[in-house]
Amino acid sequence: RIGTAALAVQVVGSNWPKPHYTLLVTGLCRFQILQLLKEKPYPVAEVQQLDRLEQFTNGHKSEEELGELSEQFYKYAVQLVEMLDMSVPAVAKLRRLLDNLPREALPDILTSIIRTTNQEKLQILDAVRLEERFKMTIPLLVRQIEGLKLLQKTRKSKQDDDKRVVAIRPNRRISHGSITEDEEEEEDHDDVVMLEKKIRTSSMSEQALKVCLKEIKRLKKMPQSMPEYALTRNYLELMVELPWNKSTKDRLEIRAARIVLDNDHYAMEKLKKRVLEYLAVRQLKNNLKGPILCFVGPPGVGKTSVGRSIAKTLGREFHRIALGGVCDQSDIRGHRRTYVGSMPGRIINGLKTVGVNNPVFLLDEVDKLAKSLQGDPAAALLEVLDPEQNHSFTDHYLNVAFDLSQVLFIATANTTATIPPALLDRMEVIQVPGYTQEEKIEIAHRHLIPKQLELHGLTPQQIQIPQVTTLGIITRYTREAGVRALDRKLGAICRAVAVKVAEGQHKEAKPDRAEVGEGEDCKEHVTEDAKQESISDTADLALPPEMPILIDFHALKDILGPPMYDMEVSERLNQPGVAIGLAWTPLGGEIMFVEASRMDGEGQLTLTGQLGDVMKESAHLAISWLRSNAKRYQLTNASGSFDLLDNTDIHLHFPAGAVTKDGPSAGVTIVTCLASLFSGRLVCSDVAMTGEITLRGLVLPVGGIKDKVLAAHRAGLKRIILPQRNEKDLEEIAAHVRQELTFVLATCLDEVLNAAFDGGFAVKASLEHLNSKL
Ligand code: ADP
Repeated sequence: RIGTAALAVQVVGSNWPKPHYTLLVTGLCRFQILQLLKEKPYPVAEVQQLDRLEQFTNGHKSEEELGELSEQFYKYAVQLVEMLDMSVPAVAKLRRLLDNLPREALPDILTSIIRTTNQEKLQILDAVRLEERFKMTIPLLVRQIEGLKLLQKTRKSKQDDDKRVVAIRPNRRISHGSITEDEEEEEDHDDVVMLEKKIRTSSMSEQALKVCLKEIKRLKKMPQSMPEYALTRNYLELMVELPWNKSTKDRLEIRAARIVLDNDHYAMEKLKKRVLEYLAVRQLKNNLKGPILCFVGPPGVGKTSVGRSIAKTLGREFHRIALGGVCDQSDIRGHRRTYVGSMPGRIINGLKTVGVNNPVFLLDEVDKLAKSLQGDPAAALLEVLDPEQNHSFTDHYLNVAFDLSQVLFIATANTTATIPPALLDRMEVIQVPGYTQEEKIEIAHRHLIPKQLELHGLTPQQIQIPQVTTLGIITRYTREAGVRALDRKLGAICRAVAVKVAEGQHKEAKPDRAEVGEGEDCKEHVTEDAKQESISDTADLALPPEMPILIDFHALKDILGPPMYDMEVSERLNQPGVAIGLAWTPLGGEIMFVEASRMDGEGQLTLTGQLGDVMKESAHLAISWLRSNAKRYQLTNASGSFDLLDNTDIHLHFPAGAVTKDGPSAGVTIVTCLASLFSGRLVCSDVAMTGEITLRGLVLPVGGIKDKVLAAHRAGLKRIILPQRNEKDLEEIAAHVRQELTFVLATCLDEVLNAAFDGGFAVKASLEHLNSKL
């Protein structure tokens, strides 16, 4: 029950690939346990300090005898140290220590350095009296000296071969100061032998095997306390673990694949069709060389989950590699092993995780790779994705080639604009547009609600969400292209219901007490009088709610709070100088209210709302066109002049001021908004528009029509003004959405203005009306 109190000075090591730590401590004194106070989580005991006390209790009784003993001990110690190679700095230091340290500390220190068994060390530790300690240590020293003499005789040639501080036993290395336990050493030695065996029996490539055998040879010679030891060992363990030759068997059957895809995902016909084509070619050709699929679309439209389904249909392992924000090429390709804390890249790590060499890797968010001083990760990805090169992909950490040609890569992105062209070139882009309201309702009822019920341990008998409620959530609580927020809201509803159900189960145990109905969630109870409601607040008296709990609008409001989005856009259009534009963002389409106002001034144009250069230019174009056409349209400034900017300042604002916006497509909206401002007329409240303008008043086509139309539809708008040349894009929009909207295809601004104002926007000279073509 004697131990050493010590101060931890340093802890070094790592947890990867398995915990391996070195602890450096300074011993302070001996202590004895008087009473164990508690054992968990770590032992706490009342202790008594033993060292030094002794000197006081023993007084100077055996001073002389001790002096003799310590002198003798010192001599042996010096003899031992001088037998060692004094040119090694640590030995020289030890020699100096012998002189400088107090004699009574020497037995402890030397016992820890010389070769002793654990048993012997413990005996010295237990020897509380100094005299006893000296007496016990001297034989150990003598033994060591004899051993060393013998060793020097037999292995003279090997004497100076390495930096052993105390060469005690052939093939064993103990560096000064480290306390290496016998068993541990043996264990480690066994480990290395095991590792070597594993390397020899693993199916790694010839080149890799050669490197590994060389490394293991080095490892055997290395002292364990060297940082490189752990590094090399980690490296070798990774090499053994990598799936050099291990693969799952593909079970590709197109009919089954179609069923899996259809079962997992509603709608997205185009995407599913393309994926099936891709898989069919793979089945016929029996290899996977070909373009990498890249799904591009707003968040939450199921890009990742389609990737997962593809892995499922192929019977392959699935691994997702998130690339968002990765700005260091060593994230892809690993660090060289010379760096401290070096690691393999994500590709090799992924392979280690899945344990086979033919998984489906989903490279998520390739559009969010960034460049930095540490290199361009996109360039590193090029090698990974190129089927001609990736059979010999070399990770810097591995430093040997690994064959990636069996891996099926799928990429996802929100936009192709920020994907480096060289990378884009290697991928086949499949656009995944947002969903319509009807599709969202179907997705919610077929997939999201069952999934959420299961997640929350509910059954369909306990909760009922009618379609109108789902529609309510979609239109009033979310405004998104995908279904992720919808999924979250459904999750929130399930949580609330789970509380009710759990409370109900609790109360069923004592039903006799309950008399009064409860009903935050229940439609039936909403009309209950105030008194009952107040009682129902004291939860104890409440009855279990009737099953299934119906989620209606009242319940929605209770659970999700007041609606976040208003369907009513007309309110904002009740004064001149406001028009609705359509914008495209990587998150899908959006409607945007453009606002304009005028005031006395010197003809300046102020633009707010974080606009890019192109958008600012659009605003200038719009003003110029209106000024040059002011007479034709009878547009005047406040003082009745046709020079619109005479003594007038104009301010244009694009809301959501914190979001940067750019692009030419707001041109027609700015013109309409300003035309409304100067004519004093209101823009129709159900019209949205998009299109680029020219100085001569032509309307040019723009991108993202599909997403924009869906956004307008989501917002409940009825009429959309588009450039004539975008007519072809309308084909991709679902028929039922097209039916609910009226499209006005315009080639020039006159047509736009005519469609945007009730009763047209008359041109004074010739009252010609250009009607829509649809
Ligand atoms: P993304 O990768 O496009 O951002 P996810 O694949 O993570 O989106 O999809 C978000 C959630 O929406 C997933 O739980 C997915 O199952 C669901 N989801 C999306 N689209 C569909 C669909 N068409 N059918 C069924 N579930 C869908």
